[in-house]
Amino acid sequence: MMDISHKNTIDLTGRNVSVIGGARSGLAAAALLNEIGAAPFVSEASDNIDRDRLKGMSIDFETGGHSEKVFDSDLMVVSPGVPQDSEVVKQAKVKCIPVVSEIELASWFTSSPIAAVTGSNGKTTTTSMLAEMCRAGGLTTFESGNIGTPFSTVVFDNLGREAKDAVHVLEVSSFQMEQIHHFKPAVAVILNLSPDHLDRYGTMDAYIDAKLRIVENMSQEDHVVYNYGDSLLRRRLKTDGTLVPFALDNADNLLFSLNETKIYDRSAKPFVYLSEISLPGRHNISNFLAAATAARLLTVGEDAIKDIMKTFSGVPHRLEKVRRLNDITFYNDSKATNIESVKVALESFTSPVIIILGGRDKGADFTELIPCLAGGVKLVITLGEAAERIEKTLPKHPPFLRAHSMASAVSLAYQNSGKGDVVLLSPGCTSFDMFDDFENRGDVFREEVMKL
Ligand code: ADP
Repeated sequence: MMDISHKNTIDLTGRNVSVIGGARSGLAAAALLNEIGAAPFVSEASDNIDRDRLKGMSIDFETGGHSEKVFDSDLMVVSPGVPQDSEVVKQAKVKCIPVVSEIELASWFTSSPIAAVTGSNGKTTTTSMLAEMCRAGGLTTFESGNIGTPFSTVVFDNLGREAKDAVHVLEVSSFQMEQIHHFKPAVAVILNLSPDHLDRYGTMDAYIDAKLRIVENMSQEDHVVYNYGDSLLRRRLKTDGTLVPFALDNADNLLFSLNETKIYDRSAKPFVYLSEISLPGRHNISNFLAAATAARLLTVGEDAIKDIMKTFSGVPHRLEKVRRLNDITFYNDSKATNIESVKVALESFTSPVIIILGGRDKGADFTELIPCLAGGVKLVITLGEAAERIEKTLPKHPPFLRAHSMASAVSLAYQNSGKGDVVLLSPGCTSFDMFDDFENRGDVFREEVMKL
């Protein structure tokens, strides 16, 4: 059995390491392991794997299930898609094989500071804002994690040649936090806590516990940037790291504060007019405040931060403006896979909205949408597996129409819209009932809108 209790003494040279899950982050972990002289073995439950890439690296693998061979190892690395209560993880623990997540593994092979962004909503947007700010501030910036490139890939690319001023800006999901041991960000950003992934975690408490593990190894010299306005987060956050709040409302010790028209810096000097901010919605101001606070702690100058607040163009599939046709504006918010993000989308508009809602049901409480729907929504178009439950849980007004494809959803929305309306795809559910992923869903929506 391998002892991983002290990070500095872990030596994987010549060790058998099983990698569970052969998708993007599993393959990246295997490549990193291969490079540092370990012997990775990739085990994938489905038949889907990039055989050529593995063969090219001479990495051993299996598909279609996990054989006993995965336990013939000194260490197990699990991909984020593999839950901690899955049989393979449970058995490894019984056999005393240490189990780590992909970001934990990668963190052993970098000494550059990590700025890790987590929360229920806004991670990708804020990670991207923060990385842009760091870049504009002249830091050698690597963006990775859930956002696209696996952390292991970036660490691999920089093995033995890390720049002195390098910083990792990392988007971290609760799944990645399930198997950490030493993972220790220099700056952690916690955006908010709202119910999500209850299908995987069962209870909100278990979900919060997983998310807040991000701070468990942090110490006083590290900074925890947290949303002071989120009372649940404020109550549950316990850390040895130094707490630095950000907030849309008043709070003590803010690096950036806000009134109706402006953002101010720490010395109460006007910093940026809200009218100059590049993205719609209060939630994006909140994301900018979080990113700006983290950027300051990473020594990024105020001018660089200001510049990004004015020019950042947003991330596709997050309240992305697709088209204006006959004075009807179409927005693609396919990444809105939980109720909170649907709420902030609806709150971002003052015009009447036709919303396309539904997808794979994650057990969300749709009644939480009632106040927002009553505000300015004139029609709800339901789609996917959750359609029936949405129709049963929500009141009869605003009215519903059921669509059976994205094409019919878009066409129903268009037929029922009038000048000045917004047509919004903000599903509040995952996409896997009808689409490959949320990007595919957003792309199909965009295509259908462009056909009109
Ligand atoms: P994540 O990576 O956490 O899923 P994204 O930046 O991809 O977050 O955004 C996901 C959805 O949440 C989008 O619909 C987006 O408009 C919405 N969103 C972005 N920031 C916030 C926020 N601070 N609070 C609530 N919803 C948000």
